[in-house]
Amino acid sequence: MKKIAIYPGSFDPPTNGHLDLIERGLKLFDKVIIAIMCNPSKTKSGLFSVEERIEMLNEIFAGQKNIEVDTHHGLLVDYAVEKNAKAILRGLRAVSDFEYEFQMALMNRRLKRQIQTVFLMAGFKWIFTSSSIVREVASFGGDVESMVPPIVNRKLREKYGTT
Ligand code: ADP
Repeated sequence: MKKIAIYPGSFDPPTNGHLDLIERGLKLFDKVIIAIMCNPSKTKSGLFSVEERIEMLNEIFAGQKNIEVDTHHGLLVDYAVEKNAKAILRGLRAVSDFEYEFQMALMNRRLKRQIQTVFLMAGFKWIFTSSSIVREVASFGGDVESMVPPIVNRKLREKYGTT
């Protein structure tokens, strides 16, 4: 049976840190489903629409059959069961990620005991890369090329009119 993991997040926008984590995840799982979670408090303030994020991720992973891009509105654990996934994949960068991740993982375990949360360490190179810092730097016309896939760099430039 295929081992499937859900990798949930905002991906606003996807960064090389996300890509690195997916690559690591694929060493443990047969398939990773990237789930853009429509968290009402975050989507409202999002830079890219969910459709734009899906489009970017689909382009980044075009032709990779072990990666699926999807979006979900409800409870993550229900989605994991629906997708026949055994695990939720999350990345840890610094200690600052820990408390929130710990709380979420414990809550998800309480909701559905059969779903495990698996944490993988961020690649050393991407420890300080986050979607929010990428958005901030790009908004001021700063160069984020080394932190994001080419399509994301292009879309950020379009968005901020810095082409
Ligand atoms: P969320 O809003 O749910 O935190 P993000 O898109 O910011 O969504 O992140 C999704 C997941 O990817 C989280 O587990 C986060 O810790 C992880 N992540 C984000 N940036 C990196 C990075 N640079 N390296 C490794 N993991 C990362």
